Amino acid sequence: MRVYVAGNIVVDETWSIHELPQKGASIHGVKISQDIGGKGANQAIVISRCGIETQLIAATGDDINGQWIRNCMHNETLMLLPENNIAEHSDTSIIFTSDDGDNAIITTMAAANALTLDIILAHLADASAGDILLQQGNFSVEKTRALFSWAKNHGLITVFNPSPVNPDFADLWPLVDIAVVNQHEAELLQPAGIATLVITQGAAGAELITDSQHHFCPATPVQSVDSTGAGDTFLAVLLASALLRGVTPDALALQHASAAAAITVSRTGTFKAFPTEEELCALLAVGL
Ligand code: ATP
Repeated sequence: MRVYVAGNIVVDETWSIHELPQKGASIHGVKISQDIGGKGANQAIVISRCGIETQLIAATGDDINGQWIRNCMHNETLMLLPENNIAEHSDTSIIFTSDDGDNAIITTMAAANALTLDIILAHLADASAGDILLQQGNFSVEKTRALFSWAKNHGLITVFNPSPVNPDFADLWPLVDIAVVNQHEAELLQPAGIATLVITQGAAGAELITDSQHHFCPATPVQSVDSTGAGDTFLAVLLASALLRGVTPDALALQHASAAAAITVSRTGTFKAFPTEEELCALLAVGL
C-alpha cells in the first residue's frame, strides 16, 4: 500500500517588516527564514516520516530554489516526482510579518499549474487498487476532479483536504472517500455523502463522522507557539495511523493526529516544527 500525494511544494520565505507597505512604498525588511512549504509537501513529509511509502507528485522549477528544494528532500524518505525540474520558477510563498503581528502572504503557482494532468497520470501509472490518492486545494477544480475520477476508476482510496478552499470544490464530494476539512471549509463546502469525514476545530479539537461512529477528540493541551502546519500534521498522522493498522480513520487515529499536531503547534515554523520520525514512531505506538 502506497500513498500518492499530488500537490505542490514551495519555498516559504518569511520577512519581518515594520508595517505592511502602502501602495507605491519602498521599505526595508529582514528575511528571517527560508523553509520548505506547500500543503502537498507538508502532508507527504509527515506521512512518510510515519513509515508509509509515499510519493509526492509536485513540481519544482529550473531555478536555484528548485535545486534547494531537492537538496532538502534528500533527507526525507519520500520520493519526489517528477525527477526533473519544470521550465518555470519554483513556487514561492513570501510571508511578510509586521510589528503589530499582522501578516500578508504572496504565493506563486506557476510550477504547480505547469504540472499537467498527463505528467501526473504518468507518475500514477504504477498505483494499484487500495493505494491512496491524497490531494489538497492547490490545483484547479478540473485537474483535481480528473485525478480523483481516475483514482476511483482504478480502485484507489481518495482523500481530500480542500485547502486553500475554492467554492467549486463542493462538486467533488461524490469522488471523495475521506475528507479532512476545517470549520471554515466545512461551512463553505458542506461535505455530504463522505464515508469518512473529519472536521478539525483548531485549539478545540476534531470531530470524526462516519456511518457507524461520531467521535470528538479534544486537542492535546500544549503551550501554543505557532499553529502553522497543525492541519497538515493532523491529516498526515490521522491517515498514517489508520493505514498502519489497516483500518479507516477511527478514534485512535484522531488521538494520534491530535498528539502530533500539538507537537507542531508547540514549535515555530512549519517544516522545522514537524514531529521527527522518532517522535512519530513513539506517538503511533500509544494505545495499540
Ligand atoms: P492550518 O492552520 O494548518 O491550516 P487547519 O485550519 O487546517 O490548520 P485546525 O483546525 O486549525 O486546522 O487544526 C488542526 C488540528 O491541530 C486541530 O484539530 C487540533 O488537534 C490541532 N491544533 C490546532 N491548534 C491547536 C492548539 N492551539 N493547541 C493544540 N492543538 C491544536
